[in-house]
Amino acid sequence: MHPQHTYAIGVDIGGRSAKFALVRSDGTILERDQRPLSENLTLDATVDLLVGGIDAMQRAGGRHGGAAGGAGVVMPGYLNETMDRVELVANMPSLTNTDFPRRVADRAGVPVRFDVDGNAAALGEYRFGAGRGVRRLLVATLGTGIGGGVVVDGKVLRVRNHVAGSLGHVIVNADGPRCNCGARGCLEMYASARGFERAAEQLADAEPDGRLARLRAERHRLSGPELAEALSAGDASAGRVIEQCTRWLAVGIATWCVIYMPDRVLLGGGVAAIGRPLLLAVRKHFCDIAQPYAVERTTIDLAALGNDAGVIGAASLWFG
Ligand SMILES: [Zn+2]
Repeated sequence: MHPQHTYAIGVDIGGRSAKFALVRSDGTILERDQRPLSENLTLDATVDLLVGGIDAMQRAGGRHGGAAGGAGVVMPGYLNETMDRVELVANMPSLTNTDFPRRVADRAGVPVRFDVDGNAAALGEYRFGAGRGVRRLLVATLGTGIGGGVVVDGKVLRVRNHVAGSLGHVIVNADGPRCNCGARGCLEMYASARGFERAAEQLADAEPDGRLARLRAERHRLSGPELAEALSAGDASAGRVIEQCTRWLAVGIATWCVIYMPDRVLLGGGVAAIGRPLLLAVRKHFCDIAQPYAVERTTIDLAALGNDAGVIGAASLWFG
């Protein structure tokens, strides 16, 4: 157990940016910053960017009258047992098989602790969000991929590489398309933000005069916000995308339920921004597909911390 600190720095490394925040031990964010990342950034440049961001937050801590006790850094992928090496991170090849965590820790002006982003989101929701007091909590982040973590009795469940399992790579369709991980028909092919976008693209192509095609032409994209907008205007095609993708998502949740038997499943990430229509559709399909035993014991809800789950969870690695 770590000593209790009043302030900690949370860093959330994603495929497109690194988010930094100075967080108080009650979960309040006092300062924030975001710096762009790209696949082409070298290992050295990524270390520089991280150390620079952490130092800036530490100076901000001084302005708030208290220095941070440490920095928590979270990222996707697999970390080794001692958390000083990255074994695999699919979207950041320059970090794969490197001692990136150790390099950051050696140069940062504060003690640094690393973890996997799905664990941080789960811990953040457990301590400060929609999972408070839940004994067996599963939090799934529906973003570019599907990440997540499991918290049991207040502790993050770690089976191997510090994760409870690869929640997004549960196979839901043996005849489905090939996933980046090499398997076929993984959940994240259907129910990640990209999965929703793919389904929306197909309908926009099939109905060139429809609302989805119009929104795509205007915004040059068709993701959560566009789907939410089309849905609120009563668009039937957007409704079909939600029906289709949430059915796959419910297959995944039903599978997680027979493995982890969670009391609550929380859905976060970009897709969850669709909000209540998404939640109601997932619950409906879940009731149809899952074991009645699980349906009676598992509630499904939206995560509460939104895009801040990663930085808050990262900082909370230092909150005892
Ligand atoms: Zn996969």
